[in-house]
Order: sequence, then structure tokens, then C-alpha cells
Amino acid sequence: MTEKTSLQQLEQHDIFIRRHIGPSEAEQLEMCKTLGVSSVEELIGQTVPGSIRLPQEMNLDDAKTEEQTLAYLKTVAGENKIAKSYIGLGYHPVSVPNVILRNVLENPGWYTAYTPYQPEIAQGRLEALLNFQQVTIDLTGLDLASASLLDEATAAAEAMGLARRVSKAKKANIFFIGNDVYPQTIDVVKTRAEMFGFEIVVDAPEKAVDYEIFGALFQYTGAEGQVNDIKPLIEAVQANKGVAIVAADIMSLLMLEGPGHLGADAVLGSAQRFGVPMGYGGPHAAFFATSDKHKRSLPGRIIGVSKDRRGNPALRMAMQTREQHIRREKANSNICTAQVLLANMASFYAVYHGPQGLKAIANRIHRFADIFAAGLKAKGVALVNNSWFDTITFVADNKDEILARAKSKLVNFRTDLDGKLSATMHETVTRECVLELFDVVLGEGHGLDIAELDAQVINADSSIPAAYARKTDVLTHKVFNSYHSETEMLRYIRRLEGKDLSLNHSMISLGSCTMKLNATAEMIPVTWPEFGNLHPFCPADQAQGYSKMIGELSEQLIEITGYDNISMQPNSGAQGEYAGLIAIRKYHESRNDHHRNICLIPSSAHGTNPASAQMASMKVVVTACDENGNVDIADLKAKAEEHSENLSCVMITYPSTHGIYEETIKEACEIVHANGGQVYMDGANMNAQVGLTSPGSIGSDVSHLNLHKTFCIPHGGGGPGMGPIGVKSHLAPFLPNHVVTKVEFIGKNAIENVGIDNGAVSAAPYGSAGILPISWAYIAMMGKIGLRQATQVAILNANYVAERLSAHYPILYRGRNDRVAHECIVDLRPLKDSSGISEMDIAKRLNDYGFHSPTMSFPVAGTLMIEPTESEAKVELDRFVDALVAIRGEISKIENGQWTLENNPLVFAPHTAEDVLDPTWDRAYARDYAAFPCESVKLNKFWPTVTRIDDVYGDRNLICSCPSIDTYKD
Ligand SMILES: *Cc1c(COP(=O)(O)O)cnc(C)c1O
Repeated sequence: MTEKTSLQQLEQHDIFIRRHIGPSEAEQLEMCKTLGVSSVEELIGQTVPGSIRLPQEMNLDDAKTEEQTLAYLKTVAGENKIAKSYIGLGYHPVSVPNVILRNVLENPGWYTAYTPYQPEIAQGRLEALLNFQQVTIDLTGLDLASASLLDEATAAAEAMGLARRVSKAKKANIFFIGNDVYPQTIDVVKTRAEMFGFEIVVDAPEKAVDYEIFGALFQYTGAEGQVNDIKPLIEAVQANKGVAIVAADIMSLLMLEGPGHLGADAVLGSAQRFGVPMGYGGPHAAFFATSDKHKRSLPGRIIGVSKDRRGNPALRMAMQTREQHIRREKANSNICTAQVLLANMASFYAVYHGPQGLKAIANRIHRFADIFAAGLKAKGVALVNNSWFDTITFVADNKDEILARAKSKLVNFRTDLDGKLSATMHETVTRECVLELFDVVLGEGHGLDIAELDAQVINADSSIPAAYARKTDVLTHKVFNSYHSETEMLRYIRRLEGKDLSLNHSMISLGSCTMKLNATAEMIPVTWPEFGNLHPFCPADQAQGYSKMIGELSEQLIEITGYDNISMQPNSGAQGEYAGLIAIRKYHESRNDHHRNICLIPSSAHGTNPASAQMASMKVVVTACDENGNVDIADLKAKAEEHSENLSCVMITYPSTHGIYEETIKEACEIVHANGGQVYMDGANMNAQVGLTSPGSIGSDVSHLNLHKTFCIPHGGGGPGMGPIGVKSHLAPFLPNHVVTKVEFIGKNAIENVGIDNGAVSAAPYGSAGILPISWAYIAMMGKIGLRQATQVAILNANYVAERLSAHYPILYRGRNDRVAHECIVDLRPLKDSSGISEMDIAKRLNDYGFHSPTMSFPVAGTLMIEPTESEAKVELDRFVDALVAIRGEISKIENGQWTLENNPLVFAPHTAEDVLDPTWDRAYARDYAAFPCESVKLNKFWPTVTRIDDVYGDRNLICSCPSIDTYKD
């Protein structure tokens, strides 16, 4: 009898853990050998200080298979009820063009890309984002747009910040908000204003100038649907030196004049209804436009047109000197991860439909609103407004009766208005929908006929006042008038995708950004309608599946972090920082410590830390790092003691941004606590903690988690993200809540302590809830053992890379036993001195070898920070190291004079096909060597589509709209 394998072993074969973790067990042992240890456990013992190790295994479930996970999530999703939503308020059912659904949202070529900091290998998404800016510019009627903010409400808060920066009304301290602005927007702006010490007045729009204001926000069209007469309001605000801001509905702007053409200083809104599912609140992109004169005050990223070394047009992120990475606490905002994938979807939606298609969609929405209004009027129902785009608010004397009928038919109205109801039409409304609405509002047997009503409406006066009907053209650029067949669209999407290097090509070893596997099984539930098609303000009984999934994820994250409570609201790590600092500030205030406003931040911190501290009106005091890259405990102690009267908190990253497990982290927490401060631990490096240690057990009070780093939400080319914050119970009462939908909290003290009236930091109660199934699935499929193994192998991979590279490059910092944590910093400054070659040259040369550059010059200028993650197999790590070793060899040839500093493959990198085929080629190296510097590249060549981009030219000649076709000719 031949010996059979045990059933358990056969079953183990299906386990997801070994799919997520790159190196096999045998390879792990081989790598251990390279490191001179006999097991991964031994390496971990050498690396992670015993004083912070968790005493026991996390209390989480065992790993589930992909099938089990998806089957369970399907039943959870089934507990959500998809209603017909007419709630509006900035969230609408959409019809996602299937060509965009499959080829963008469900396509790893798009969703696994990184933020386009390396523009030569990111021209595809940069073009899609430039299109997004062009859509924004055209529809709003302003000169300059940014490429996506987190949501409409935070965009409004950013607009208030811009108003404060540019307003000439220096003495005014009031920001005015029209009382018909969406309630969640008012909520988020109020939170921000409280932090900045601005006063908020909410009143009828025409009252704006009765107050001494530096800016005012109007909604166009108002929340109840009316087309506000905003032109005189804008003029009045400006006459008082205030900044006039308009929150606008993107679809309405196809029929309504762009607020910029009416004089507005800034216009913002959500791009959700351009083909992005509601997702119970997100993710979606917000748009933001202002005039050219405010360009330095614009929040968020701006894509600009520059040129490459060959003079070809090339796109890049412009004016980065405004941003948090450079300006830190003086930055315009703390926005880092934004909503690139969703902005791209919205821009593709505009490309696909074109101006005619979009106008037809907008007109159809508007027509159904007219028909609905005409039917109600015919039956004697009083309408609240006499103008509208898509929203009809009507007096409902028999509200309960209507709502009972609505419930039985799964129809959702906006219900929070006294004695009134409102219904907002959207892209997927049909004649049958409107008939059903009549049945619900009027009762069956009303006898209304859509065709008859339509005939009436066509002959009646327009429900859009003539002064506000759109007269200016939109989307005349060629890109919006070229790809209207599916074949053309498919190829356009594919063409752009092919310009970008994503995780489906090769590893993206971005230190601090944890670009790990985004498994297909994790992604699948995101586009299930049961998760996608829920309005964030739907009745709670329709969102039971979400409630369960979010509750379970919260409990798992509480266990992983060692905190007591969690808030899912922040839409990015930086927003988590902001929410966490608010909690700290409110905690001090609750103890009458209003004066505690000093925030200690080590010099190595990520730029969002000081930028967030500034948003919470804290004063940043920078503490030093020692020569080993550790937080200088003596300096921290001295500064904590010096400021102990006014100490609010420390913001500290662990393991440090230098990639080290500092032995003194507990001591650092104790020092801050002893001086009356709180500890904010930046959770971006959680990938080096999960299962081994935790912020809560180390002694921190609050952290954000970047679910788009550690917990597998893909980076999306620069967003979406999720930055939930975990807190110890004493901070739980200060977590954000939400004015429309009260948040359900999980964890210790969940019920009794949580501040029911706290303001919101995001437009939706659970942030970008639609992507939370990704992290849920990751935790389920890894289980407690797999999660810990992931951390261990992340550390193994980083140490292996560091070890192999150290023969060729100095590794800048090492911790105990000369080990690094989950990332390592390669010091290139000595090479710069000996050869003149910069980290930029090396980063670009890596593109020729088929790799994305590691993080450049953060946290130390002149270095690369490599984070391989656990998901990269040994073969890929070796390819990557081999590339860097080969590049080191190229640098030697410059050092020894074989190549000059002016003529070598590094300074000319990256090489495009056009470049190496140039008939005038006169380089000191061969064409084939330029493009195929090693054997492995021949099997998997990635061609950058532009050569080195001229940053300075791009900022001097700022162009942030689609260039005319002539640009491409000369
Ligand atoms: C990524 C990161 C952040 C910011 O997170 P976002 O989600 O991009 O806003 C903050 N701190 C550190 C150390 C990070 O790496």
C-alpha cells in the first residue's frame, strides 16, 4: 500500500495564507540562512524587543478559505436591502458603465497602482486625472482644478481654509453657511471651524452679509432642490471682501450655468454620480476648483502638463511645494491619500458619454423631476419650490401614510424635513419608477400618465430660471468627443493602463506605504450590488449587513491594535490623524486643560503629522533623532518637561520611519504621560506590529490604521483609503459622530461613554464603507496565525533585502542585533559625492529595469526606503536586488571614468522606445543596454512612455487642463 497524505494536509493546500505570503517555507529557510539564523522565529527574536512582544496569540478566528470567506460575506451582504433611493443629499444611484466597471474598478492594472510620484511610469492615470480636472474646470466655470479630494463635506471644509488664507477681510472671524447646504457638510465644516477657532453662522443664504464674514458657502441647488439665486449672493459676499464658495451638484452643471461664470471664487462637490456606486458612503472623489490667482492656496494634488527631456508633453503632479510633504505644518491641508481611482472612474464616465451623452442623462433626470412635480401638482400636492434640477420637495400632510407605503415598496425619500418629504431623481430612474412614486405618494388609482404629463411639461415654462440655464459650452476637448463606442473606450482605457506600472507588473517597494497583495478574493465583494448600492443615510434596517460587517471588522481591529474602541469614519490616514488629535484636544478640554496645545513631533515624521496637528490648532515642537535614527529620548524628555504645562501630545511612528523597533518606545510613552500628554501613534507601520505587538499594549492612546496599507485595500493610484482610529476608552467619548446617521460604536464603553453630539470628520458616518469588505476578507482569510506570519515574513523580506544590498550600498539605520524592521533605508549620499549620481537618477534607472522606485528622500534626503512586504516572493526580491546591484555597477563605471557624468544610462533614464530608436543616438552606451540592461527584463519589459520630466518647467508654466492637440504636434 502506498502511503497517503493526510486529509488535513490536503485541505491545507487550499489555505490562502500561502498565497498571500510570497516566499514558500523552503525559501524562507533559505533566506534565513543568508541572514545567519536558523528560523524566522529566531530572526524575530533578534529584531523585535522582548519588552513589547505580545504575551499570547491574538484572539481572532482561524483562517478561512477564499470560498468560505466569500460565501460568508455573501450572506452578510444579503442582509443589506437594496431600496430605490431618492434620498439625494449628494448620493445617487448610478449606472456604472460596464466597460469602466470591469476595466477600471475591477482591474488590478488600475487599482493596484501607487500615487503618481514617479510620473514617467504613471502617464496613464495622470492623463485620466487631468481629464478629471478638465471636467471640473468646464463644469464649474473656473480656471484651475485639483485632482480629487476625499468627499464633498471635507472639500467644503478645505474651501473654508482657502477662504481664510485668501480673504481680505482679515478681521472677520465668521464663516457663513447657507441653511440649505447638505446637513453632513455643515457638520464637517463646523468640526473644522471649531478646531481653527472660526465662528460658524448657519442662516438663510440672503443673510450672509448681515454678518462680518471672511467667506460664505452656498449650495447650488439647495438641499431641498431650489435653484438658488446665487449670483447676487456671490456679489454681496465679495463686496464685503468675503470669499464666495459654491457647493454644486456635478450632474446639474450640465444644465445650470457654472458657478465660476456667475462669479464664485471656489466651487466644489462630489463626483459620485459620474458613475461611481454609492457604497454606503464611499469611496468617491470630490472635485474642487478655484481661480488662477488662488493657485498657491488650492488644497490637494494638482496635475500639470510639462515636457520630458525630448520635449514631448508629459504629465506630473505640479506645485508639490504647497503640500504637506514639504511644507509640513505650513501646508494648505494634510491631504495625502485621496480618491484617485474614483476620480479616474468619474473622468472616464465623462469621456465615455461625452458632452451630448451627459446632457442627455442630465436632461432625462431633470425631465423626470418635472414630470413628478407636474403629477403632484395635478393632484393638489403643494410643492415647496418653484425651481429645481432633480429634487422635488413637497408638503406631506399624511407623511406617515406615505412612508408606510414607501416602506412596503422599498422606496426611500429624504424624511428629516418637518411635514415635508423630498425625492431626488437620478440616472437610473425610469417611467416605471415615477409611476411607482406616484403610487406611493398619492395611493394607487391616481390615474396619472407619464406620457400625458410629459406633453404638459414640454410645453410649460422651464423649472430652471432663465438666468441660470447653462449657456457656456462644456467638454469641447477632443478627449471627450472621441471614445463613445465601447471598442474605442475599451482601447482608450487599455492604452492608459499600459502606460502605468502597477503591482500586476512588478513589486512596488514603497517604504512606509506597504504595497502588498490586494487579493482578488478580497476585491470581489466590493462590486456586489448589496454593498455598492446602499445610500449612506438609508434606514438602519436596510443596512444590517453593513452593520454586521463593520461591527466584526471593528472588533477584529480592536483586538489587533489593543485599543478599546474604534471609529471607522476617517477616509485616509491623515484624516485619522486629524480625528485622533481632535479626540485628544477634546479630552484635555473635558478636563479643563484648554491650554494644552503643544504637539511634539520627531523630525523624522511623515509630513501629514505636522499638517494634521496644525489643523487641530496645535503648536508643533520638533524633537530630534539620534545618529542611529531613533527618537532622541533625552531630547523628547527635555521638550516634554519644558512644555509640560501645555503639553497636548506626541505623534510618533512605530516602528520608526527609519525602520527601527526602538527599544525605548514604552519609555517615550511614559515620559509623555508623566507630563500630562497623550500619545498618538501613527499606525502606518502596523505591518511590522500585527500579531507581535500592538500600539495599545505599548502604551499609546490613539492611532490611525491605514487600511490601504496594512489591511490590503489597494492604493488605487493614490486612493481610496481608510484611516479608522483606535482609541483607549478614555478617548472614546470624543470620537466623531454624524448628524444624519448616528454611529453605532463597538467595544468597551461603547454605549455609555460615546459622545452622541460629536461632530463629523467625513461626509458619511462610516467613511468609505464600501471598501471595508476588503480588510474584513483579508483578516478572515489569514486568521490569527496568518496575520502574525505576514508580519514575520515582512520583517524577513526586509532583512533579506537589506542583507543582500549591504554588500553594495550602506544601509543607513539598524536596530538591535543589526536588524531592520519591515523596511530599510539605503543611503545614496556617499555615491552622490563619489559619482554625482543622485537618488533621482537611480530611481529612474530602476524603471528601465522594470521596477517602481522605492520611497525617495523620506524620511532622509538622498536615500531610498525599501519596504518589500510579505507578499513578494524570493524570486522577485532577488530580481529587485539584482537590479540595484547592477545599477551600482553602472555607477562604478562613472566613478572610474568609463562614463562621464553627462553621458551614462542613469542620467538619461528612463529610456523610452522612441529614445532608444532615435536615429541620432550618440550615447556612451548601447541602445539595447539602455532598454534591456539584464536578461530578466527581456521577459517582462515595461516601457516608460516619456523620458525624464522637467519639473521646474512644469511649475513655471503651469497648465492644469487638457492641452490642445497642437501641443502634441510641435
Ligand atoms: C501613509 C502615511 C500617512 C498618511 O496616510 P494617508 O492615508 O496617505 O493619508 C501618515 N503617516 C505615515 C508614516 C504614512 O506612511
